Amino acid sequence: MAPRYAKPSNLGEALRLLTEDQWTILAGGTDFYPAHSEKPILGKVLDINGLTELRGISETESHIIIGARTTWTDIANHPFLAAFYGLKLAAREVGSIQIQNRGTVAGNLCNASPAADGVPPLLTLEAEVEIRSAEGMQALPLEEFILGNRRTALRPGEMVTAIRIPKSAATGTSGFVKLGARRYLVISIAMAAARAVIAEGRVAEAALAVGACSAVAQRLRGLDERLCGAEAGAASAIISAYDFPELSPIDDVRGTAGYRREAAREIVIRAFLQAASLESGGLAA
Ligand SMILES: Cc1cc2nc3c(=O)[nH]c(=O)nc-3n(C[C@H](O)[C@H](O)[C@H](O)COP(=O)(O)OP(=O)(O)OC[C@H]3O[C@@H](n4cnc5c(N)ncnc54)[C@H](O)[C@@H]3O)c2cc1C
Repeated sequence: MAPRYAKPSNLGEALRLLTEDQWTILAGGTDFYPAHSEKPILGKVLDINGLTELRGISETESHIIIGARTTWTDIANHPFLAAFYGLKLAAREVGSIQIQNRGTVAGNLCNASPAADGVPPLLTLEAEVEIRSAEGMQALPLEEFILGNRRTALRPGEMVTAIRIPKSAATGTSGFVKLGARRYLVISIAMAAARAVIAEGRVAEAALAVGACSAVAQRLRGLDERLCGAEAGAASAIISAYDFPELSPIDDVRGTAGYRREAAREIVIRAFLQAASLESGGLAA
């Protein structure tokens, strides 16, 4: 297979090229280049950095749209609603400032690492992944897009063009807590995201997710249900009593399965309290 490089200047051209050959898409390159290490790049590389239409955050009547070339820095700087605070906190914890300037949210999802920091906050926002090919467009729930460790539902000829957040899920406030072996520039041992709507001291809506404790980050729907209707002050006790059946952590160089399971419980509590205290004006965004 002869190496090939193309840098289309509009989406139509990119989609046409995708019908011609089996390409690897290059966005910020912060996963792509380390994956090649010191090996030469011999495949076919479709560089999407000329597609200006895919960068930025916009909205329609029903959705908030994050273009596929939107970087972590763009997320951190955007004046989002409070429901996106968790995603903004995650943005500030991805690698370093340099990585945040280059790396894209869509690249984080497409790389499908179990430790991808963007996945839990986007799960709590009920995110959909917009996929395009020359044939048309479809929007897949994020939960159906990432199929396993480094596996997505993308098929040949397709690319991700945006992440879409339904406005119906962009309610309340949110938090994000990442546990690593040190404070910065670290791969997560576990991370938790929470979105909460608190009304008159009670949890009206809860959406919780945990990453790096299973092959794919998981929504904790059983816990969401237990929290809904409960007094906000009882949330820590409810989370402490939950047995997290959604998680299947493994032992690896960063932590044991047992440690991850215990840590997950604690960071879910912290992420929920962060979201709930934002709701009552307790923290700055
Ligand atoms: C030093 C360092 C620190 C890091 N720290 C963190 C961290 O703390 N947390 C974390 O989650 N990640 C971290 N990362 C990983 C990486 O920065 C993120 O996953 C980033 O969001 C990837 O985005 P990208 O645009 O660079 O993707 P790329 O490297 O360009 O692509 C990643 C993968 O996605 C595919 N792809 C990209 N865009 C599309 C698209 N639009 N359609 C279809 N396929 C696409 C590519 O083909 C490739 O397989 C780190 C990386 C480095 C080098």
